[in-house]
Amino acid sequence: MDLRGKEPINKGRYDVIVVGGGIAGVAAAVSAARNKAKTLLIEKSVNLGGLATTGLISWYEPLCDGQGKQMIGGISEELIKLSVAYGLDNLAKSWGGSRPDQKNPERYCTFFSPTIFSIALDDYVLKNGVELRFDTLATYPVMDGKKCTGVVVESVNGREYFEAAAVVDATGDASVMDRAGVPTVLGKNFMSFVAHYYDTDDAQKLAETRDTRLFRKWMSVGADLEGNGQPEGMKFFAEGTAEELTEYMIIGKQKLFERIKAKGKNNFDITTLPYMPQFRTIRRIAGRCDFPAIDGKTYEDSIGWCGDFRPKGIGKHYQIPFSSMYHEDFENLVAAGRIISAPQGDGWEVARVIPVCGLTGEVAGKAAALCAQKQISMDQIRKEYMDQIRCPEV
Ligand SMILES: Cc1cc2nc3c(=O)[nH]c(=O)nc-3n(C[C@H](O)[C@H](O)[C@H](O)COP(=O)(O)OP(=O)(O)OC[C@H]3O[C@@H](n4cnc5c(N)ncnc54)[C@H](O)[C@@H]3O)c2cc1C
Repeated sequence: MDLRGKEPINKGRYDVIVVGGGIAGVAAAVSAARNKAKTLLIEKSVNLGGLATTGLISWYEPLCDGQGKQMIGGISEELIKLSVAYGLDNLAKSWGGSRPDQKNPERYCTFFSPTIFSIALDDYVLKNGVELRFDTLATYPVMDGKKCTGVVVESVNGREYFEAAAVVDATGDASVMDRAGVPTVLGKNFMSFVAHYYDTDDAQKLAETRDTRLFRKWMSVGADLEGNGQPEGMKFFAEGTAEELTEYMIIGKQKLFERIKAKGKNNFDITTLPYMPQFRTIRRIAGRCDFPAIDGKTYEDSIGWCGDFRPKGIGKHYQIPFSSMYHEDFENLVAAGRIISAPQGDGWEVARVIPVCGLTGEVAGKAAALCAQKQISMDQIRKEYMDQIRCPEV
């Protein structure tokens, strides 16, 4: 293969580059910029929010423990408020929303409009001083031994190289850290495909109630997170390859098409298709240590607390160790969001939801800014600077 003339154009140096503009990447970029780092956020699509918005998830799992105690604050709380600031809102009054409380205690969670939230995220990152690059795929980290010196990207401009003092991997599939040589582990997924639809039978109800959730009803043709609804004989998706991703999307869309045909013409519409595969767990790093989600377990390098969104997790409190966000052999790479070192089962299940991605994103951004400013490794940050990156108790 002849690659002559394909040398990347050098686009200059940033303190922090965040790859991936999902919830974790947005939180990381804003956090780094607030900590005075010159920050670039690179996103391969043209909208922010990742699975939460372009993946149509549109449900912010709770920031609380289910018993009335708030567990997560900071940027993740800013983001839940932003998610309902301009559109669809299901946040209970007791947590600052507009929906009258129906339970005591209510959980601190909400529906949100994925499209309006995504637009609001642009405004949020730009106002916080983050530079943004859309439609740009980060292809390879450039490594000098175990130090990452920057990221090569492909876009309509061709191949470019952005230098960085520290890099946050918020890709949702750990592709930056995996390609840097950090050990990674593949996830295991049921078949899940969710689109949003509108039913003309709901027109009158919509006019009366103005409940815009009726525009965005979920049409789910796969399994739920427990595997209920997994089509008979369907395999697990666990290879992490492009071929498998394509197969997953084709099967999901074929199954949706069967439902569309069965529903008949002219009485409904699919309002949005997911623009990314709705895999829950693709690939994660195998970090310095795991986050196994053990109730009450504390860590010297805790980044803060979170709760458990699941009914079985009510009242559970978990600390997340910073060691689950990096590998000690790699100086300036840090993971954020659903790719932290959390084993399949409770750890990954808790770590991957939106509020926790916001929390790990915020900490990754602070750590990356510190790494860039003090020229120190993630491991040194763990040993000497946890007080500067930990999220305070709410
Ligand atoms: C079916 C399903 C249901 C769910 N339900 C809920 C729920 O109800 N509530 C909840 O809180 N959570 C839910 N989740 C989990 C949650 O939505 C996600 O885990 C979370 O949003 C992940 O955020 P993230 O930022 O870590 O990753 P992602 O959202 O995956 O963001 C990664 C971003 O990086 C970009 N990217 C990737 N690679 C590159 C690259 N090389 N270069 C540039 N950009 C790149 C992607 O385009 C994407 O925007 C659900 C997940 C699934 C699949």
